[in-house]
This record gives sequence, C-alpha cells and structure tokens, in this order.
Amino acid sequence: MKTCPFCGSNEYIDIRKINVYNYMLCNLPVKEEPVQMKIYTCKHCGLGIYHDYLSDKELEDIYNNYFYPFHYFDNPNISWYNDFDVDFIAKHIQTEDSKIVELGCHDGFFMDLLQKHASLQGKHYKNLLGIEPSPNADIGIAHGLKIEKNFFKENYFPDNEKVDLFYSSHVFEHIKDPFTLFNNMLVQLNKNGKIIIIVPNFSGYDITHYYYYSWPFFEKMAEKYGAKIIDAKITYSSLRQIEELKIVFSKKNAEYDEVKCPFDMHFIIKHEKEMQDKLVSEFLDGFQLIKKFVENKEVVYWYGTASYYLVSYCGLLSKRKVKYNIIPVDNEQNRQGFKIPYCSAPVELLKDFSNQVLDNMVISEIDKETVIPLLKKYNIKINNILYSKF
Ligand SMILES: [Zn+2]
Repeated sequence: MKTCPFCGSNEYIDIRKINVYNYMLCNLPVKEEPVQMKIYTCKHCGLGIYHDYLSDKELEDIYNNYFYPFHYFDNPNISWYNDFDVDFIAKHIQTEDSKIVELGCHDGFFMDLLQKHASLQGKHYKNLLGIEPSPNADIGIAHGLKIEKNFFKENYFPDNEKVDLFYSSHVFEHIKDPFTLFNNMLVQLNKNGKIIIIVPNFSGYDITHYYYYSWPFFEKMAEKYGAKIIDAKITYSSLRQIEELKIVFSKKNAEYDEVKCPFDMHFIIKHEKEMQDKLVSEFLDGFQLIKKFVENKEVVYWYGTASYYLVSYCGLLSKRKVKYNIIPVDNEQNRQGFKIPYCSAPVELLKDFSNQVLDNMVISEIDKETVIPLLKKYNIKINNILYSKF
C-alpha cells in the first residue's frame, strides 16, 4: 500500500469503489470505457487519495481537448456564472491596490467576474494577476486581462514582492504536489495576506483529481505549514452538482481570529456516502425519463458531448438491452468525428443540421441557455426536446 503523501501513514478508511466515466478520448484507447476508481482516505489526516492517477500525457490530452466545456468570453452573461461565489472572494480583498493573484486562472473568467463585481461599486482592482500554464491563458490575455502563462513556484515575484490575496478555484485537486504549492504561496504572502482555496467538498469524483479534501484535513495542513483557517464555507454548486468547500487561510501569526472546524472526518465520510446515494437515485430517475424518450425511436440526437453522462446513460441503455439510436451532436469543431462509446455514430456538428427539422433531441439542462440561441442561429427546428438534469 502506498503511503499518504501528506502524513506518510499507510492506513486507510475503506469507503467503497466509485464508478466514474472517463472522458471520451479515442486517442486513449484503454481509457474510453467507464472505470471504477478507488479513493483511499488516510486514517490519520483524512486526505482522500487517488493512487492510480493518469499519466501526465493523458492528463494533458484531457485538459487540452475536453476539460473545459464552457467558453466564458463567448457567453459571459449566462446564468452559469451566478454559481461562482464572487462575493466570497471580494469580501477578503482589502483595497483596490491589493496585490491579488489567481493561480490556475484558465481563460481568466473569474478575474473578469471579479472586476465586473468591483465595477458595480465603482471600484477597479489595479493589481489583479492570473497565472496559468495552459493555452487557455491566451484567451484571457487577448481579452485584456493580465495573465502570465507560467507555473507558479518559489521566489516567483521579483524583489521579494508579497501578495495580499492568492485565490484558486478547482485547481488544488488537479495538482500532484499541492503541499509544496501551498507552502510557496504562504512564503510569498504578506503578513496579513490571505489564501483562498476552493475545491469540491471531498466529493467531485473525477479521474483527473489526485486528492479529495475536507475541512478537517485543511486544518491539519494549515497547522503543518504554520497557517490557520480564518473563514470557511460549504455550499452546493448547482453547476457542478457537488458541494464546494471554500477555505481562507492566513499565516498563523496574522491578526485574524482562527475558525475551528465543527465536525470530524467520520462525519464527512458518512455525509459523503449519503450524497453519493442521492446522486445515484437522481441518476436512475433521469435514466427512466431518457429510456422512455429514446426507446424504439428511429433516431434521437443528443446535444453536448463534454458531459460523461452521455456515456453513462447510453452505457446503461445498452446494458438493459433498450433499442435506441443515439447520435451525438456538438458545437465544438474539435469533437466532430469522435466515436463515443455506446453511441450509434460519431459526433456530428450542430451547424451541419442548418435549416433542418429534427424529430428528437436530448439536451442537458446545463447546456440549455447556450443551445437555444444556436438552434435559432442555424435555423434548426426540433419537434421534441427532453431536457436532462445531467
Ligand atoms: Zn495522511
């Protein structure tokens, strides 16, 4: 048994295997089928660990081709972005001159949301910087944001310049050595500076995640590096359909009061099992609706290939021997022609159906706001649409 990379223990709490569906990567032949992943939860520190993580090459393929289904700057005003708790970040910013750094800022959408939020109060953050190594950084740069296409590391800023606020949303679970990263942030933090880390609250199972975090674990992590937790919040994200954990750290000797975690690791695991059961039952309810909609129909188009629920539902239809003919459709050029497991044909482009009437289409609720205008744009009429929860 491999040791816990945080505390070195090799004793784990057994919390059942979890079914996840891999991204539809035909260039990763062994990874296109549903997989079971086992999350080990360290008995001593509570860190959830996925020991069998993908190779760097596989992760890079996923990040570059599939990982980000949203294109913020194409649709900056849709309601998805209400899901991002800009208030929570903003209330921890002291002044307009504060040095604010987002780690893993992607295309800079959160930075843009933060500036919009400030402008509502007649403010503008003058020292807001994003650091992002992927090609997505170019999108934000092209939209005028200050993003450095780089990895954050020790002594990153010249002249020993210190940061007032680091924040990072849904990044920490994707990093192989988050502990060194945390320490590097802490060392480059002002005396009363803050670090905000937003992650799934233990859950959010995904093959690209190395670790699963909880508030009790973060307390141990803070202690180890000479930090403390000064604010925390757990909320349900309707966009991601998971609970999110938002933790604010400062240096141990900063002027803020420490906030103590009100529950322990055993509570987290019990709660997590209940959440998983709820998700499974919602998934199966959704399956009944989809089965009724697709069974014995000549053809059903399914819009949106970024969600693994397409594979999940088609896999289950196939397993239950339901007669169906599902053709996946997407608006992303780079997905055209991909063969998705359990679907009847490769991915077609939405615009190729311009000026046509289609009988049946499944659209995920999450895509609704972006698809409706596209259907209008391409003059596509759909007689029956099923909006799927997932
Ligand atoms: Zn541990």
